[in-house]
Amino acid sequence: MTRVLAIRSARVIDGTGRVWENATVIVRGDRIAAVGGQRDLSVPRGARIVDGRGLTLLPGMIDCHVHLCLGSEADVVAAVEQESPSLTLLKAAHRARQTIDAGITTVRDVGSRDHSIFALQRAIDAGILPGPRIVGSGLAICMIGGHARFIGREVEGEAQVRTVAREQLAAGAGVIKVIASGGVLTPGTSPDVAQMTVRELAAAVAVAGEAGKKVAAHAHGASGMKNAIRAGVHSIEHATLLDDETVGLMREHGVFAVPTLSALATTAACRRGCGIPDSVLEKARGMTKRHQRSFAQAYRSGVRIAMGTDAGTPFNFHGENAQELERMVALGMTAMNAILSATAEAAELVGLQNTLGTIQPKRQADLLLVDGNPLKRIGVLCEPDRIVGVMKAGRFVSGPLAQA
Ligand SMILES: [Zn+2]
Repeated sequence: MTRVLAIRSARVIDGTGRVWENATVIVRGDRIAAVGGQRDLSVPRGARIVDGRGLTLLPGMIDCHVHLCLGSEADVVAAVEQESPSLTLLKAAHRARQTIDAGITTVRDVGSRDHSIFALQRAIDAGILPGPRIVGSGLAICMIGGHARFIGREVEGEAQVRTVAREQLAAGAGVIKVIASGGVLTPGTSPDVAQMTVRELAAAVAVAGEAGKKVAAHAHGASGMKNAIRAGVHSIEHATLLDDETVGLMREHGVFAVPTLSALATTAACRRGCGIPDSVLEKARGMTKRHQRSFAQAYRSGVRIAMGTDAGTPFNFHGENAQELERMVALGMTAMNAILSATAEAAELVGLQNTLGTIQPKRQADLLLVDGNPLKRIGVLCEPDRIVGVMKAGRFVSGPLAQA
């Protein structure tokens, strides 16, 4: 018999921009069956009833930029290079659990040391391990000597780009990741210098497009961002040093920004001697203020924003993903728009907008029930004690309701 569950008397932020007070949501099997006012919806007989008084129900959150293979160590590059791939995979499985426990029911993993991210994805999908849905890129594609080569494959020329992109897709990639500028973590690369050519980036877009997949481009500097947008990518990761022309191009092409404010903020907050290499610390500190201004400019200008944390980078811990919403709100985003960036907008970027990201009939029942009102104080999403239940595909998998 199909399981039926009714959450009653809850505030519902449904991901379409609407807020329902005192609403009922009915879940049948793995899907949402109905959403309505308390008086308008009757609860089917035999349904499990969850009392939602004082609680807020929202779509399970989607983090569009994580690295489950990275463990937030001060020197993540050294850490991942010194451990065996199988130990990395076991740790990644643990981080997947921390992620879903925090109300993140889907992640886009944009760069891993090998293809084991797809094994983890399959194990989670099969119900063997707890964790979020994973849309993974496998290895990032970068130029020779380029940023992110510790979780990427170095290429030269369009033919190699096509080969490596096809290898990722064959292994199970749901998105292709390209590196269009230098980065913070990779020694010897400058964030404001472009990497890969427009033609190489466009080759990745073409191969991904043939498979119906999107391309996420890492880019800090404006030149790298412009190359990536002109090549046809779907999102700019970090978008750190925006200028007016780049903002215009992003709007014109409907390209998402995935700001990952947490990545620079958590690094820049550290002191010398914390273990983060000095070069990394200097780069992060030098860009943090500009990054914040770029975010505010993108938001004001109407650039589409999808939530992403870069979890796994130094002191940017898996399971603390919701801090990104707090950071966006602190820089002027409304709480509602921060929630939308982590639900409906993110679902669109990951290509799952017909399945996830809103609380509407027929959608997958990926839900987050929290104690309090995140529209009044976004920080309630960051407090583990306030998570009453995390539901994935119609089952509570985390929080007190998972034990009940
Ligand atoms: Zn990243």
